[in-house]
Amino acid sequence: MSTRLRERVEVVVVGGGTAGAVAAIAAGRTGANTLLVEQYGQIGGMTSAGMTYLGFLDGEGRQAVRGIAQELFDRLIPLNAATRHIADPLRGSVTQADPEMLRHMLLEMLAEHEVRLLLHAFLADVLLDRGLLQGIVVETKGGRQVIPAKVVVDTTGDADVAARAGAPFELGRPEDGRTQPVSRIFRMGNVHLDRIYAYLREHPEEFIVPEGWTPPAGRKYGVDYLEETPGTTIILQHVVQAAQNAGTANLPKNVISIYTPPHRSGPAEVALNATRVHGIDATDPDQLTRAELETEKQVMEVFRFLKKNIPGFEEARLLGTPYQVGVRETRRIVGEYMLTADDVLRGADFPDAVARGAYPLDIHDVARNTTVMHRQVHGKTETMVVLPRSYAIPYRSLLPQRPDNLLVAGRCISATHEAISSARGQNVCMATGHAAGTAAALAARTGVPPRQLDVQTLQQMLRTQGAILTLD
Ligand SMILES: Cc1cc2nc3c(=O)[nH]c(=O)nc-3n(C[C@H](O)[C@H](O)[C@H](O)COP(=O)(O)OP(=O)(O)OC[C@H]3O[C@@H](n4cnc5c(N)ncnc54)[C@H](O)[C@@H]3O)c2cc1C
Repeated sequence: MSTRLRERVEVVVVGGGTAGAVAAIAAGRTGANTLLVEQYGQIGGMTSAGMTYLGFLDGEGRQAVRGIAQELFDRLIPLNAATRHIADPLRGSVTQADPEMLRHMLLEMLAEHEVRLLLHAFLADVLLDRGLLQGIVVETKGGRQVIPAKVVVDTTGDADVAARAGAPFELGRPEDGRTQPVSRIFRMGNVHLDRIYAYLREHPEEFIVPEGWTPPAGRKYGVDYLEETPGTTIILQHVVQAAQNAGTANLPKNVISIYTPPHRSGPAEVALNATRVHGIDATDPDQLTRAELETEKQVMEVFRFLKKNIPGFEEARLLGTPYQVGVRETRRIVGEYMLTADDVLRGADFPDAVARGAYPLDIHDVARNTTVMHRQVHGKTETMVVLPRSYAIPYRSLLPQRPDNLLVAGRCISATHEAISSARGQNVCMATGHAAGTAAALAARTGVPPRQLDVQTLQQMLRTQGAILTLD
């Protein structure tokens, strides 16, 4: 089969998760002829699993992310397909969206900005000449295709383009290369939430009560608050640990998180975060295959447990599992600046800020039964550290050391193992996508390499589109 040469584009964005979709929308909006390339038949990436968007607000209720991410939610809210941002003592803030509607809305926005899509195309290689990317090579059912491009944005989550192009990267924590565990989020339908809330009222030990926090409108933080607030997450822990201790269920994780939908009407569809496999390098296909198969088994175990033990799940059905196991961490580029845990925790500002993040620092147990970072809430260990103040992400964290015409956004930006545990949050990924897509288009249109762009011009453009770069 011969290789097909496609027409040259100004910006090619590789990876159609939310970082990539937003980057492509931003590049299209900035006037660049843009192509979004994705290996699967749909866009949305990990967000299609249906988790909550944490950290739109910081711990003190200030908004950290707006821009295109907010535009997306502003379109979903009137359709009853997303909640507003809800201050939450355990997670900073919670926002929920219907993942199917979100995907469709992203497609609409891509079309409005005249972004072309190439689906079912897997990045196979890059074309490099004298240190510059000339384009990318994708593998398709119809054989290899070459896509020449002026600027490339890597939003593969795994920094696939950067790694192929010889950009320095890290994988896992520095001491042993171990990454956060992988988990398969799955969805169940015909769930009766009212029965689960009634169960929680009878089992207050399931409830983490944060100290000194009063929810909006002065209500008491408790089951009533959760029940009245669509989009909030139900966490089961005592019942799970009791079953584990008694050996009555082989549950993979000591907590089951149940993401409730953004609306309340009849029996609910929920997403569940309850599976986990440690020690997986998700850039290795054999390990990734093992993770897929193990988490499939775990899904059935959790499904059976919930149906048998938790009121509200008696008539529940398994609706589906996403296109692949959820990967929290793989390669992170070592770019012009590496965001650190200290930057995240102190709410750092940078003169070249192009995005902000307030997703909690959220490092799961890298090895089984270890917690790397945690806080105590009423004697219980929480792995999330809520950020009182959002932090800025410098433009330099989106710039690999080489090649010169590559930008990175999403969960593979230049950040340490600890810092990426916050910057990988869905809305932070959209914020870095917005910045990278705008910068890529500016670079392609002016012929100035991304590294030499006038950052103030970029910042001005992002601000005009509602992005939050500094806290006034
Ligand atoms: C189990 C789990 C739970 C999580 N919970 C939350 C949560 O509650 N709240 C929250 O805010 N965040 C959560 N996250 C984090 C968040 O969902 C992700 O980090 C974020 O969505 C990543 O976005 P992204 O666009 O950078 O990457 P992805 O969504 O992974 O998108 C990358 C895209 O690139 C495509 N791609 C990859 N390689 C190639 C290639 N070689 N060629 C072509 N296409 C390619 C992929 O198919 C995918 O569509 C969770 C993550 C996991 C795994």
